[in-house]
Amino acid sequence: MIKYCDLKAINGLYGEELNEAILRAASSGWYIHGKEVENFEQAFARYCGCSHCIGTGNGLDALTVILLAYREMGIMVAGDEIIVPANTYIATILAIMQAGMKPVLCEPAPQSYNIDTGIIESLITEKTRAIMPVHLYGQVAEMTRIMDIARRHSLKVIEDAAQAHGAMHDGKRTGSLGDAAGFSFYPGKNLGALGDGGAITTDDDVLASTARAIANYGSHRKYVHTFKGVNSRLDEIQAAVLGVKLKNLDKENDRRREIAHRYIAGIDNPAVSLPAVNDYEGHVFHIFAILSPERERLQQYLAGMGIETLIHYPIPPHKQEAMEEFSACQFPVTERIHREELSLPCNPAMRDADIETVIRAVNAFKG
Ligand SMILES: *Cc1c(COP(=O)(O)O)cnc(C)c1O
Repeated sequence: MIKYCDLKAINGLYGEELNEAILRAASSGWYIHGKEVENFEQAFARYCGCSHCIGTGNGLDALTVILLAYREMGIMVAGDEIIVPANTYIATILAIMQAGMKPVLCEPAPQSYNIDTGIIESLITEKTRAIMPVHLYGQVAEMTRIMDIARRHSLKVIEDAAQAHGAMHDGKRTGSLGDAAGFSFYPGKNLGALGDGGAITTDDDVLASTARAIANYGSHRKYVHTFKGVNSRLDEIQAAVLGVKLKNLDKENDRRREIAHRYIAGIDNPAVSLPAVNDYEGHVFHIFAILSPERERLQQYLAGMGIETLIHYPIPPHKQEAMEEFSACQFPVTERIHREELSLPCNPAMRDADIETVIRAVNAFKG
């Protein structure tokens, strides 16, 4: 059986090093905002090429806190509009709503699955304050074009980098490509903790200090509250784990790229479309997404061959019961991706023989 994502095997690659880090944090007697978090924040900021990193409780909070900080800074107000891709995980859209603002959904480009930069400008109104691109499946959005549009219209750009730790664009990493970025360290992400975790990265000193306070009950100094904040902190044990895993992130991303490269070279079944990748450095293959009009039958067929696959995602945000406000909207490109997408196993615990098995099985499928 080839599992889609065997976290036991992935974390098992670290041997005793993870256990030692956990024990060090557990026996330190200090569990919130201590040395482990400080060390990880510094290491992750350096890795992304940013001056600041602020640990948060999860990825949703990282994005929400950035927007709340812009409100406290007087740069955004309740009711402002934020342009966001229609095909994303629901967290991107919820973050905007939780910060009291209005998500304006934008279709993706059919080739890259990322926000269609040809449409963005038609959605800008005098209430638009930011663009929130998602580096979906691990592939960097068209950031040069997005930054150019944002600068011409005085908009902020907030990267949802939850699926793209370490992906590169013009020699810079995600997290440093816009004005601020939110990351998730959910266990299955490319840089995953052993529970929930997240981070904000930015070069903006005021935003960093405001966001840091907001995530810690609005407080810069204990028992002194400048803002109505939230409690969203990365804890010491998760930070210790992430510190160990960060050192291997590039190696793991390279392995994911190698698997993806072999899939792209080896799969030639006309019944499936492969992801369009122009730049392997710009993709960290959090998800290897293929499209097939016969997705359900293909998934069952692969399961019968002992290959587990997942769907990212079965229902687009605007069709969710929770998102009634979008129920009248139509996004045909988004809907087609959600109807046809299937994710093949692609992770550093896979063996070479597994890759060949997947390629042979997909090629043998009769469309
Ligand atoms: C995982 C994810 C998030 C949210 O992260 P959590 O840590 O689960 O809150 C946000 N956006 C995208 C695109 C994600 O994949």
